[in-house]
Amino acid sequence: MSKLFIADIHLGNEHPDISQRFVEFLHQQAPGAESLYILGDLFEVWIGDDAVQLEHQDAIQALRQLTDSGLPVYVMHGNRDFLLGQGFEAMTGCQLIKDPVVIDLFGEPTLLMHGDSLCIDDQEYQQFRNQLRSPAWQQQFLSAPIDQRVAIARKYRDESRSRSQNKSDEIMDVNAAAVIETMRKHGVTQLIHGHTHRPAVHEIEVDGKAAQRIVLGDWYSQNSSLLCDADGCQLSNLK
Ligand code: MN
Repeated sequence: MSKLFIADIHLGNEHPDISQRFVEFLHQQAPGAESLYILGDLFEVWIGDDAVQLEHQDAIQALRQLTDSGLPVYVMHGNRDFLLGQGFEAMTGCQLIKDPVVIDLFGEPTLLMHGDSLCIDDQEYQQFRNQLRSPAWQQQFLSAPIDQRVAIARKYRDESRSRSQNKSDEIMDVNAAAVIETMRKHGVTQLIHGHTHRPAVHEIEVDGKAAQRIVLGDWYSQNSSLLCDADGCQLSNLK
């Protein structure tokens, strides 16, 4: 059997084709695996479990169908859908997992992350991240009326887009030292993450040991997925 990993699907009303591909994926590819891990940014934006947007209904129904069939689906928060909560778990049957988390991947302890916390060269973003992840900010945001939340989310997204345009590729990528330090801390030689939209398998070294950093691509154009079994992992595009 195999475990399947995806990230950065970015479901949203601007890209109905992605929702279609994602639902197809859940119907066709996912049932062949023993479990599915979604490592963050399943949704382009998530403003609370009580405010599910109409365009997400098909994806939510397909997730429900998959978990009802007995296939475990694990979902990690990304930088866009970090407000997924118990309501989402209840409606889909998915289980939220922490970022970071270590799993046993066919005998290999493997660290799973979304990846944004490794991009420490982007200090402005890390400050913004700390603000949005504080319980006080989240409580205040979630208690606002839905139309207000929609407006705030849109403002943040526009700001983030214009900020990103002025940043170099290096700043927006993971910091190599932070990767090593994080892997060392968790005692792993295998890391799987998304977020940067730069699918690749990086052969690295952690304290003299051969290690791997596997980066999942996004679903805007890459349709990236990773299939792991007892023989190893295969990163591929669906198309
Ligand atoms: Mn992300």
